[in-house]
Amino acid sequence: MTQAQNSLSRRSFCKYAVGAGVALASLSALSSVAAFAAGPAGGFALPPLPYAENALAPHISANTVGFHYGKHTKAYYDTVNKMIAEQGRAADSLEAVFLEAAGRPDGAALFNNAAQAFNHTFYWKGLTPGGPKAPGGKLASWIDQSFGGFDALKKELTAAAVSQFGSGWAWLVCEGDRLRVVKTSNAENPLQKEQKPLLTIDVWEHAYYLDYQNRRPDYVKAVLDNLVNWDLVAANLG
Ligand code: MN
Repeated sequence: MTQAQNSLSRRSFCKYAVGAGVALASLSALSSVAAFAAGPAGGFALPPLPYAENALAPHISANTVGFHYGKHTKAYYDTVNKMIAEQGRAADSLEAVFLEAAGRPDGAALFNNAAQAFNHTFYWKGLTPGGPKAPGGKLASWIDQSFGGFDALKKELTAAAVSQFGSGWAWLVCEGDRLRVVKTSNAENPLQKEQKPLLTIDVWEHAYYLDYQNRRPDYVKAVLDNLVNWDLVAANLG
C-alpha cells in the first residue's frame, strides 16, 4: 500500500454508516444502538433504559432519570413519530431523518426532535453504573495519541461541557484518524460535520438541575468519574 492509500484508509476509519439495511446493521454493531432503527409500525421505538431508573444514583437520581428518560426522551420519540407519520416520510434511521431535515429550510422541528431522540439514546447507552473507571486497550491508546492521556481527555470534556453556553451537548468524537472533543448547541449532532460520536454528555439543565441545581461542573465530574460506559465507547470506536 502506498503512503497515500494508507493515509486515505486511516482517514476513512471513522466513517459512520448512516441509513438503512447494511449500513444500519453496521451502525448497530458499532454503537449497540439497534433501536435507532424504525420499529415495526414504522415509527421509532423508545429503547428501554439499559439499567434501572435508580441505578445511576447517587450521581444521577432516580427522580432525574424518571423525568429525563420517562418524559423528555419519550416526548422526542413521540413527536418525531407523529411528524414522520403526518409528513409521510421514510423512517429508516433517526440519523437519516435528522440529517435530511437539517438540509431543509422547513425541517427545523423534525430535525430537533429526531436529533434529540438520537442524542438522548446515545447518552443513556453511554452511561452505566458498573463499568470500568477508565478506558483500556485500543481506545486508551487513541486517547493517549489524541490528547496526551486520560486525565487530559477528562479535562477537555469537562471544559467543553461546562463552557457550552445554554443547552447542548459535549461529545467525544472520532474524526479522520484521531479523537476530538466537541460541543454542540441545542439538538445539534457531530454527524452533521461528519464526526463519528463515541460518547456524549447532556448539558441541558433538565439533565442535572433536580440533583445539582446550577452546579453543572459537579454533574459533569460525577458523570466522568463514575458513570461513563467506557466499554461502549470502545465498541463505538470499533
Ligand atoms: Mn436531555
